[in-house]
Amino acid sequence: MELLIAHSGLDEGLRKAKPSGIAMIPTYVTAVPDGTEKGLFLAVDLGGTNFRVCSVQLHGNSTFTLTQSKVAIPQELMVAPTTSKQLFAFLAKQIESFLKTHHNDHFELLRTKSLSRGGSADEHTFKLGFTFSFPVDQVSINKGYLIRWTKGYDLKDAIGKDICALLQDEINALGLPVKVAALINDTVGTLLARAYTSPGKSGTLLGGIFGTGTNGAYVEKLSRVTKLSEYPETDYNRSTGMMIINMEWGGFDNGLRVLPNTPYDEGLDKESVNPGMQMFEKRVSGMFLGEILRRALLTLVSSPAAELFKREISSSERLGSTSYIADDSPLHRLWGIDTSFLSIVQGDTSADLRMTRQALDKELGVSASTSQDAKAVKELVTAIGKRSARLGAAVIGAVVLATNSLSGTSSGRQVEKDIATHIKDLEMFAAASAPTQEPEASIAPAGRADASTALDEDSIVDIGLDGSLVEFFPNFEDYMREALREIPGIGEEGEKRIRFGIAKDGSGVGAALSALTAVN
Ligand code: ADP
Repeated sequence: MELLIAHSGLDEGLRKAKPSGIAMIPTYVTAVPDGTEKGLFLAVDLGGTNFRVCSVQLHGNSTFTLTQSKVAIPQELMVAPTTSKQLFAFLAKQIESFLKTHHNDHFELLRTKSLSRGGSADEHTFKLGFTFSFPVDQVSINKGYLIRWTKGYDLKDAIGKDICALLQDEINALGLPVKVAALINDTVGTLLARAYTSPGKSGTLLGGIFGTGTNGAYVEKLSRVTKLSEYPETDYNRSTGMMIINMEWGGFDNGLRVLPNTPYDEGLDKESVNPGMQMFEKRVSGMFLGEILRRALLTLVSSPAAELFKREISSSERLGSTSYIADDSPLHRLWGIDTSFLSIVQGDTSADLRMTRQALDKELGVSASTSQDAKAVKELVTAIGKRSARLGAAVIGAVVLATNSLSGTSSGRQVEKDIATHIKDLEMFAAASAPTQEPEASIAPAGRADASTALDEDSIVDIGLDGSLVEFFPNFEDYMREALREIPGIGEEGEKRIRFGIAKDGSGVGAALSALTAVN
């Protein structure tokens, strides 16, 4: 296998406001929790469908209690003639009713104290972390100007406005003792949540999401984020000497084109809503793996040599073969296969792949598939999932190396690595065999000791992961580990020192932690 080293520059991303490679967005989060933090904090998460309000009680021993409510955003609040003021007033109302329902005593106490001081933000307010998953131009920990709406929203008057101020104004209008202290994206939340809950005190380097999309955030030295000087308003705490960087790694390779490529990747990209964009994400995340499989299967189905999903017909009138795919099969529909189908197939260890054949019938309308058919499907699924995991390992490995995290010294970088990723050319289909021995799933839930705790805690590089692929696709972590071992500079020794842990609830506990660490 050929080793392909792609230089696109984590460094360039840290230097330039508009880099050609990975975006490397400063988050203004300048502290990472260590599990000893205490207190009651609020978090809200505005997504495409729901608005979530949470309170998080941090107990100071890496554990927390989370209370939450969720409300669907009414469609009419997402588009004109609704104004952004009306939308944010609705959100503030949800915060008010959450506080009254779950924290009424505390709420009344704070309100009284806050009002007696003229409503100014002080210790008598709840600090709130705001997870906002839309493109914003963030200029401080709690100031970000909306660039554009996505996910069905279209409230034009909000474009260019500070969305934290829009929310704060409506909170103030209701007289709530709540301060919007931090604005974050979900990847930052994953990193913070893992840092709080991780078993050791080695600190967490990175949070990565492998769900509908894929992205990562990591802890960088502030002195390396030289592009901060290009931002007109730079208001952040410099004393910690660090800042979390939102990498936006899903956009890696938009210009470079060094990733392994197949006709299925090309076809998927062409028919996507954003051709040429999010090229890394399109090979890695849950939204796309099902579609890659669909395209590969259709190609095999139409190949006379492959004989996939066909049965022989022999009668006096006709000789030949016919397909047993239903006319209305999702195989014929763009995006017809959900990535959860891949997890079912990958997890099927029965000799005749019975579960796979059942799933082919039930989910894809392919009746009477043979065990040969199922075997072919499983090989494809393994190849696609393994490629995704290996690419995920490539970006994680690049961060581990670029931050010199395995050096075990605190003297900073010895080698400046201008490496965006190390990518193994995966020879996607040639090397697509399932492991002969199924490794045990080994991702440790937050707080559970895993194998690597046998190592000296100081030598561990801790990484938080979230998303359906890492949680549910069998062997995802093992494939990542296999790839990490192959990366020069990491190897067997380095891979053993990398600890993965699931970090759930980034937009709840992670956002609450961002509010805690925010200095404003
Ligand atoms: P999100 O990233 O939207 O917060 P998830 O982490 O649950 O949420 O990811 C959803 C994505 O994961 C979807 O693209 C879906 O197709 C995929 N998915 C859902 N269930 C599974 C599963 N069991 N195995 C693998 N992928 C799954």
